[in-house]
Amino acid sequence: MSGDHAANPAAEPPRFLVDTMLGRLATWLRILGCDAAYFRGEDRALLDQAWREDRILLTRDARLLRRRRLPPHLTITSDRVAEQLRQVVRAFGLQPSRLPARRCPRCNLPLTERDRESVAGRVPEFVWSHHEAFWACPGCQRIYWAGSHRRRMEESLRRLAAGINDQ
Ligand SMILES: [Zn+2]
Repeated sequence: MSGDHAANPAAEPPRFLVDTMLGRLATWLRILGCDAAYFRGEDRALLDQAWREDRILLTRDARLLRRRRLPPHLTITSDRVAEQLRQVVRAFGLQPSRLPARRCPRCNLPLTERDRESVAGRVPEFVWSHHEAFWACPGCQRIYWAGSHRRRMEESLRRLAAGINDQ
C-alpha cells in the first residue's frame, strides 16, 4: 500500500459504527485508539445512527447491504477478526502509532490519565507497585495500565502494521 493516507498524519481518523456481527473487531479498533461504536438493534436504527453521527459503517450483513441509500460503509469480507482488522487498517490507512489516546475497549470512551496515588487500592498491589502510568474509563470506571498484556497487543499490532506496509 502506498503512503496516500500517511501523507496527512494530522487528519482525524475515521469514526466507525460496527454492526452486531463484529463485536470483537470493535474491541480491537478501540485498542488501536479508534472511535468504534458497537450497535445491537434493528437495521433502520443502525443506518440512522451512522448517518446522524457521521460514522463509517462496518458490516458483514448481506441483507443490510442490499438496502438502498446506505451510509458510507465498508463490507467486511472475513469471519476472522485478525483479517477483519487488517482489512480496516488497510482500507483507511490507519497508523496505530498516530492514533489519538487510548479508548476503553468495553465502552468506546476516551480514557483519562490518572496519577499513581489516585489508583492506590483500586488495582492489584503488584500492578500498583510495578507501574507508573494509569488510565481510567469515565464510563465503567475500570483502571488500565501499560502492563505486559498491553505490550503483547502492541507487538501484535506492530506486526500487523508491518505486514500491511509490506503489501
Ligand atoms: Zn469503560
